[in-house]
Amino acid sequence: MEPESLAKSPRGEPALNCSTALRFPSSGMSEIFLYQVDSADLLITVDAAWLEFAQKNLARDLVRENILGKPIWSFFSGYQVEEVYGSLFRRVRLKQQPIVLPFRCDSPTERRLMELNLSPLVEGGIHLESTMVQVERRKAVPLFDYAVRRSKEFVIVCSWCKKIRVADEWLEVEVAVERLGLFHVPTFPQLSHGICPPCKAEALGR
Ligand SMILES: [Zn+2]
Repeated sequence: MEPESLAKSPRGEPALNCSTALRFPSSGMSEIFLYQVDSADLLITVDAAWLEFAQKNLARDLVRENILGKPIWSFFSGYQVEEVYGSLFRRVRLKQQPIVLPFRCDSPTERRLMELNLSPLVEGGIHLESTMVQVERRKAVPLFDYAVRRSKEFVIVCSWCKKIRVADEWLEVEVAVERLGLFHVPTFPQLSHGICPPCKAEALGR
């Protein structure tokens, strides 16, 4: 299955803070995800990981020159993405102080605790950078493995903490797959990205 169909499922949105939605780098690889926008949310810098994210989500032949100067929202759209990142951008510009938000960028065999750092640049610009904080090995979770076969069903994964929605609960993936009986099955549901209430509250600063 092509990664894009997971990253952009009918009900989901790609995760801006983490390219796990698209690929799982080899174990132990530290993933930096960096970009900058100006006061009008136009992209002024993107790193290689970001460029790859855009290429996989939009067009494989996208080059850096065609990305710089474009509004960030033309690459990442969706109600939740705009609400959360719009709120973060407003806070950084208003307070002129950095914001640091924890998030997870898991692979099937690793819990990756990361941080998203947003810091103000001159004249209303914003620098965004993801850094690795901690990596914990775990028993492989096939639900997060793109090599597995997928059914037409979906489960919703929080873009920030990687918890899975089961009924009205948001559960750590290990708990969720046990609850859903998703360890040894022929096909796995697709991943649709959303945001759980605690992550949303934290991201919106409420
Ligand atoms: Zn969450």
